[in-house]
Amino acid sequence: MTTTILSSADLDGQLLLPDDPGYDHARRVWNAMVDRRPELIVRCASVGDVRVAVRAARELGLEVGVRCGGHSVLGLSAPDGGMMIDLTPLAAVRVDPERRRAWVQGGALLGALDLAAQEHGLATTAGNVSHTGVGGLTLGGGMGWLARQHGLACDNVVSFEMVTANGDLVHASADQNPELYWGLRGGGGNFGIVTEFEFALHPVGTRALSVEVDFPVEGAAGVLTGWRDLNAAAPRQATFAATLIDGIVTVGFVWVGDPEAGRLHARELQGLGRPAEERIAELSYVELQRRDDTVEGHAVRRYWKGHYFRELPDAAFDALLEHHPSVAASLQAYGGAIADVPDEDTAFSHRDTSFEYVAATRWTDPAEDAERIERARTSAARLAPFASGAYVNVLTDEGAAGIRAAYPQAKLARLTALKDRWDPGNVFHLNQNIPPTP
Ligand SMILES: Cc1cc2nc3c(=O)[nH]c(=O)nc-3n(C[C@H](O)[C@H](O)[C@H](O)COP(=O)(O)OP(=O)(O)OC[C@H]3O[C@@H](n4cnc5c(N)ncnc54)[C@H](O)[C@@H]3O)c2cc1C
Repeated sequence: MTTTILSSADLDGQLLLPDDPGYDHARRVWNAMVDRRPELIVRCASVGDVRVAVRAARELGLEVGVRCGGHSVLGLSAPDGGMMIDLTPLAAVRVDPERRRAWVQGGALLGALDLAAQEHGLATTAGNVSHTGVGGLTLGGGMGWLARQHGLACDNVVSFEMVTANGDLVHASADQNPELYWGLRGGGGNFGIVTEFEFALHPVGTRALSVEVDFPVEGAAGVLTGWRDLNAAAPRQATFAATLIDGIVTVGFVWVGDPEAGRLHARELQGLGRPAEERIAELSYVELQRRDDTVEGHAVRRYWKGHYFRELPDAAFDALLEHHPSVAASLQAYGGAIADVPDEDTAFSHRDTSFEYVAATRWTDPAEDAERIERARTSAARLAPFASGAYVNVLTDEGAAGIRAAYPQAKLARLTALKDRWDPGNVFHLNQNIPPTP
């Protein structure tokens, strides 16, 4: 495979052009709404490949998309007519159980990190679906079932190895390029391509408990406010979650640790009303991390909108329940170790969030696109008056307004200065973009 500037011979990995076998598979991302055709896909098998790809894209004047798990809802890793820098072959995870560290390559999926660490009873915070990419998730923050005990995924990164917009390789840690280290913990893929994350691991054991109690939507306001109030006193092993879909309100929590201790808290939830059904399941941590893999699977059309809430007053639950079209609304609790980190320590913001809300919809018929998107927007708009910001990894098509919701003004200024320093030409703009100073 050859272009005038780049050929497979220059790479440890592979160059894919539109007629090549494997091209169609490689361009596909999680959201089936995304159907873009990059001019080139560089499947990078080494850090050297990433450097070569970045330099070639600039020489060829091609727009760059960076792909790890391919889970950006907008499919930002797949540029139409540009170069997809596909990191998926760079997926190795190495664990040192003595030092409690994991070195994770930039294209790895969360499942690979969980599996390698759990062999030693260790883990670090990762998201709730194992086929999500470590890359995009961690660079935007990284919320998961361990975050209330051990902080966000980004809080556990000890160092980054990054290829810059010039194709150079740099390190970022508390000692080396500390300002870049600050920005990579929450600032997304704006500054370069991370080829390796060094994570701190924690001895979390291998056991977990999931508690879900269903109530009919009629009369669910009291259930939800009770669930909220129980959350305020919940131990850090518990991450409270709730969903509203198809006339059923489900409240519960995920517990990472000794399941017996978790079961004690389940009773409090059962007492919130007259449950229609309940599911209490002990599972291994790895099973927990894969539990939603199928329902959150590929090849389905998707759209969502989210908010952060500092507080959830009763009126917010009324707004949630008053109008419940066929989008799934979910709430997940923050707090604990997330809020222990001073807000100014990382680019990730809104550490005083108590709950994250997402209105999500999935469908298969393209004829429903406009209606589905509108429903998710309408649902989220009803909760907007209670919002206190947004999570950058849950933003979709909000544009600059979304960036302003994700970062307070002072942080945005600091992130813009970092962008000016590391990517003044905005080579990396297919992301939730922080543009350089014009
Ligand atoms: C099914 C599903 C479940 C999710 N669950 C959670 C969850 O539990 N917790 C949570 O916090 N978020 C969750 N998210 C949101 C998720 O964090 C974002 O969608 C994230 O962008 C996905 O990263 P990715 O690597 O899979 O996606 P990609 O589309 O591959 O990447 C997204 C963007 O990240 C950047 N990027 C990715 N890798 C690198 C890299 N190595 N170097 C530089 N830039 C890079 C690029 O800018 C790229 O455009 C979930 C998303 C989905 C679809």
